[in-house]
Amino acid sequence: MTETPSPATASAALFGNRFLTREVPTKTFPDSGMSPVEAMRLVGEDIALEGDPARNLATFVTTWMEPEARKIIAGNLHRNFIDHAEYPRTAEIEQRCIRMLADLFHAPGETTGARTQGSSEAIMLGGLSLKWNWRKRREAAGASTAAPNLVFGGDVHVVWEKFCRYFDVEPRIVPLQPDKYTIGPDDVAPRVDENTIGVAAVLGTTFTGHKDDVVGINDLLVRLKAEQGLDVPLHVDGASGGFVWPFLYPDSPWDFRLEQVHSINVSGHKFGLVYPGIGWLIFREKDDLAKDLVFEENYLGKTDATFTLNFSTGSAMVLAQYYNLVRYGREGYTYIMQAMQQNAEVLADKLEAMDLFEVIGRDQEQLPLVAFKLKEERSYNEFDIAWQLSAERGWMVPAYTLPPDAQDVTIMRALVKETMSREHVDTLARDIIDACATLEAKGGAHESERRKMVVGPGH
Ligand SMILES: *Cc1c(COP(=O)(O)O)cnc(C)c1O
Repeated sequence: MTETPSPATASAALFGNRFLTREVPTKTFPDSGMSPVEAMRLVGEDIALEGDPARNLATFVTTWMEPEARKIIAGNLHRNFIDHAEYPRTAEIEQRCIRMLADLFHAPGETTGARTQGSSEAIMLGGLSLKWNWRKRREAAGASTAAPNLVFGGDVHVVWEKFCRYFDVEPRIVPLQPDKYTIGPDDVAPRVDENTIGVAAVLGTTFTGHKDDVVGINDLLVRLKAEQGLDVPLHVDGASGGFVWPFLYPDSPWDFRLEQVHSINVSGHKFGLVYPGIGWLIFREKDDLAKDLVFEENYLGKTDATFTLNFSTGSAMVLAQYYNLVRYGREGYTYIMQAMQQNAEVLADKLEAMDLFEVIGRDQEQLPLVAFKLKEERSYNEFDIAWQLSAERGWMVPAYTLPPDAQDVTIMRALVKETMSREHVDTLARDIIDACATLEAKGGAHESERRKMVVGPGH
């Protein structure tokens, strides 16, 4: 699009910006540029149409940090994390975070780990390490390495299936049941054999926030080792739960207190309370990291060992994670997690008092969230409520069906995060009552309305 000079251009330059009245560049590489103010306003106006994170109860990811943390982030955006020669202090701070998390997760001694972009990268690296270690064990025994498999439940995040497809591992998925949304030892036992590189258990599922029976699965694997000499490591996907269980349920073992747990991933940008992109992979012992996966290079002026899928990435979130760890400590994280849980309890009480909903698994250890569904069939369903709440009040409370074989169960889920005050909880509860009343009056949402809103379980 060429610019037609118009008498208004001079005024636009003085009083407004060109894109107040023009279409923005979207398709071709721009021939000419624009002033910084114009570029800032163009991007800003686009972003103004995004959803409001405070009313998005679908995402697990952090949407608020303290002003002091934001200062650290803003002041360190120019640092490339991987450049350890230039930024040795950042590398040291990464190691401190790894040691602190290993301590939080009860690692028996000195260990190792990695900063990652999130739990997805941590799971890819953890899965690769399982695969490499399994192959080494098989080769040492003169056995075939042709058909590795990984055992996990249908309640895992999609990244586990991604790992299997990307890295050629057979997924052995335990289906859920219409009334059972996590897995335990009886599900795992028939699927484990000498080609199993590991079992993955979830601490805080994306779907209902509960944990797999990690203790039971560990006990099964310990027994298999003793009775059959089959040493199958257990990886715990603590993307969400890794920063919740140590503070809400400190006496409930799920981590390196259990003998077969060899690696754990956690998302710093979920309940670690850091903005996105930070995750962690922590090994039980140094030997759990397959040596062949570590690369030594000296591009940046100093020989360095890297164990990552990405190379260059920002330092800011590593520093922000360290800020949170020292700022909050166990005491602060415990306070924040308990506050979220308390508000989640209030929301669950209010939902139950409406006599419309069944709250799922309140009596079990759970992430600070409320998973609920309609008690009985009505003229409207959970998808209609999600749509109506969003249309009327801008709340994002997703409705979704559970994975097979619980696919006939539809649930809704509201994350109760640090930004969700008691006043917000009370307002949300009233808005849910209003939304249901509207739907009752009009006999459900129209099909066309339903189609407009497709919300998954989030991330
Ligand atoms: C969010 C999540 C993931 C993926 O983590 P990212 O940090 O978003 O990459 C994996 N597993 C579980 C259980 C999750 O909740």
